[in-house]
Amino acid sequence: VTLRVISAPWVLPGRHPERPGEAAPAIADGAVALDEGKVVAVGPREAIERRHGPGERLDAVLLPALVDAHLHLELSHMKGRVAGGAGLPTWIGLFVATRPGTRPGEAEQAMVAAAAELRAAGVAAVGDVSNTLASLEPLARAGLCGTVYHEVLGFTRDRFARYREAARAERGVRPAPRGLRVLESPHAVYSTNREDLWSLLRAGPGSIHLAEHPAEREFCRDGGGPFGHMYSALGAAEIERLRVQGGSPVVAAVEVGGLGPHHLAVHCVDLDDRDLELLARCGATVVLCPRSNQYISQLLPPLPRLLAAGVPLAVGTDSLASCPSLAPLADLAALRREFPEISAARLLPLAWNGAAVGAPHVGRLAPGLGPAPGVLAAPLDGARVEDPFEHLLSAFGVRARPFTWLAPNALEPR
Ligand SMILES: [Zn+2]
Repeated sequence: VTLRVISAPWVLPGRHPERPGEAAPAIADGAVALDEGKVVAVGPREAIERRHGPGERLDAVLLPALVDAHLHLELSHMKGRVAGGAGLPTWIGLFVATRPGTRPGEAEQAMVAAAAELRAAGVAAVGDVSNTLASLEPLARAGLCGTVYHEVLGFTRDRFARYREAARAERGVRPAPRGLRVLESPHAVYSTNREDLWSLLRAGPGSIHLAEHPAEREFCRDGGGPFGHMYSALGAAEIERLRVQGGSPVVAAVEVGGLGPHHLAVHCVDLDDRDLELLARCGATVVLCPRSNQYISQLLPPLPRLLAAGVPLAVGTDSLASCPSLAPLADLAALRREFPEISAARLLPLAWNGAAVGAPHVGRLAPGLGPAPGVLAAPLDGARVEDPFEHLLSAFGVRARPFTWLAPNALEPR
């Protein structure tokens, strides 16, 4: 066995082994022992070196690789092309109007560059949303694992049936590469007729955009607002609109749709107290994409209330059409800045939630030769750091510096 021992001023073991929402304590003057990327031991340098021999010394913070639980790799070529600031319904309108201007090959090239950007940002596992499955290959080639949520939608039952059939055929000719699973998923409560939305949610694990903007509540209340106009414009019948007593998209997804622990609820910006209680009870993982929310709607998710309610959390970047980079650390840095009462140590576990995207081996340096989680080094360049969590968000993450990969992640959790 050829062990590689690496020591550093700080080692972060990642997700807490018993309390997954929290971070395991940082180890000052720590070390890791690796066997081809698998973690043999993590702990204080002295103890590790006594057992496994002297290691190489890095001036860095060592940590497990990260998770970007919500992105759309296939939209990477739309970077900087869709103006934000006027809210979600307006943004969707601009997006739909801009997308057909794509040149041949442009989307594919942009995806390869974006997958490389994910790696530089320390990402091992993704929750990628795709309509075309064109993201599968660039993700797999970059060594990323996790889930591609194959989005199906349709305002009328008829349109949904056709969309779904085409999606099924696409899955037939594009099998999932090693390390990635493909799950059929709804888009949002405002883009799919209620019958098909509910059957999708009840069918099993998946992801849904939820409560991203107050217009969703308006739509669920009486079928009106900007999304109601969209329905009318697209010729959907009254009966196919989703209406919920009290008008909450969260109530629609949880109480009627059966949102559960195997689902991702993405965004969750517009939440009242009842929504928070329902989310906590149903056990779905809420994926926060704060930079995208700020860009599109100048809104932020209610992070302190989500934490207080005990809702399981993860972080995502969303696509480059609404976010300047694919670095989950930069989204956590934005949350740290906007909610200074929430510590960096409380935020980092959001980027270590591999289990939420079907990659439970990612996000923790677990000793005992489990599948390789991916090990990163964030160079310190001589800086003396008191709080490595804070350093990662407020110094390293803000400047969007690239990580050094010390060992790659395994593709499969087995
Ligand atoms: Zn999205």
